[in-house]
Amino acid sequence: MSDTPYDVIVLGLGGMGSAAAYHLAARGSRVLGLERFTPAHDHGSSHGGSRIIRQSYFEDPAYVPLLLRSYELWEKLKQDSGIDVYSITGGLFMGPEESTTFSGSRRASEQWDLAHEVLTDREVHRRFPAFDPPAGQMALYESMAGFARPEATVQAHIGLAQKAGADLHFGEPVTSWSDSGDGVLVTTEAGTYRAAHLVVCPGAWAPKILSDIGVPIRIERQVMYWIDPVAGSAPMEGGPIYIHETDEVEQIYGFPPIDGPGGGAKVAFFRKGEDCTPETIDRTVYPHEIEAMVERVGRLLPGLTGSVLDTATCMYSTTPDENFVIARHPGHRNVTVACGFSGHGFKFVPVVGEVLADLAIDGGTTHPIDLFDPNRLADV
Ligand SMILES: Cc1cc2nc3c(=O)[nH]c(=O)nc-3n(C[C@H](O)[C@H](O)[C@H](O)COP(=O)(O)OP(=O)(O)OC[C@H]3O[C@@H](n4cnc5c(N)ncnc54)[C@H](O)[C@@H]3O)c2cc1C
Repeated sequence: MSDTPYDVIVLGLGGMGSAAAYHLAARGSRVLGLERFTPAHDHGSSHGGSRIIRQSYFEDPAYVPLLLRSYELWEKLKQDSGIDVYSITGGLFMGPEESTTFSGSRRASEQWDLAHEVLTDREVHRRFPAFDPPAGQMALYESMAGFARPEATVQAHIGLAQKAGADLHFGEPVTSWSDSGDGVLVTTEAGTYRAAHLVVCPGAWAPKILSDIGVPIRIERQVMYWIDPVAGSAPMEGGPIYIHETDEVEQIYGFPPIDGPGGGAKVAFFRKGEDCTPETIDRTVYPHEIEAMVERVGRLLPGLTGSVLDTATCMYSTTPDENFVIARHPGHRNVTVACGFSGHGFKFVPVVGEVLADLAIDGGTTHPIDLFDPNRLADV
């Protein structure tokens, strides 16, 4: 297919697709990127000002090597783009001693020899007075945790991809794609493009455009809340990001006020959302939801009693085992897929870009991605 103007087409230029377009173009591929909306839009999964990054991965220690590489690439992205895409604040992962949040973080830290401290509820309160975890709970403090800025990250990857020669089209939804045997054909409202390879990074649109990969993906509506920290008695500025689990196995997570007190302290439930689709998601946030969040966060941060300054909705794309899908398409060798990030993908954006470039250009990668094989769910 050397007669085509493009080596690789990237479908979707959100978190993962913009990173893939950059890594591909940086390695010399002729890239066409096709995005339904504008750069760094707020209709998908990569908006809302902040995303937790951390290494002591309670979900599964198998993610840690990818995180270590991702951290290297976060720093490289910051240097190369000159954009403040991430910051280190430290992080508290709290809950009952046997909770996934605490014990899983400890397991990953110990297995990979990551710097960490184990704190009792009283030690947490002494060191970070804004926090007052329930008596008897434990915390793992990770000094390397922090946050990424999703919109800035997408902008940085888009800018660098374009600088490396990628041709990126916005406001151009892909309506269909097909495998032509020796390459792919991709059709949009504006025309049909040919390339040797297609990388599909569709976020919450995966159930439609990747209906044949054999992994059921549920799209969930999630709400983010920004609470005025000024009224609180213990300042949170400069403090850690946090995840807190209760006896009921419910998790919330949050950030210090990263844009100054006026920007609010963001909090959210982790994995508490209703099924939706990108077309049907209810973007209204209701008073009963706000009340539930304020009550819940007050059990951890009793001084965070200010008014709710803002709210926003976002979508998770959740697989049955909450592990990602990153692979060559099981049915089409000219297609690579990245989807099902299950509400925890953003911290991996830079390394996923690198992995997708490996898969598209070399057909394989040295990064450990067995966990993300779509065939793992074939018998479920
Ligand atoms: C509220 C919330 C909080 C989160 N918190 C964290 C966190 O703290 N830490 C963390 O690591 N992760 C977090 N995540 C998860 C993380 O943000 C996602 O895993 C990640 O953003 C997914 O990126 P993506 O590229 O798959 O999706 P997106 O960024 O949504 O990109 C998909 C893109 O594909 C485009 N597209 C779709 N179909 C087409 C088409 N047919 N033609 C053209 N373009 C198309 C879309 O317009 C979109 O731009 C959170 C997610 C949410 C919603």
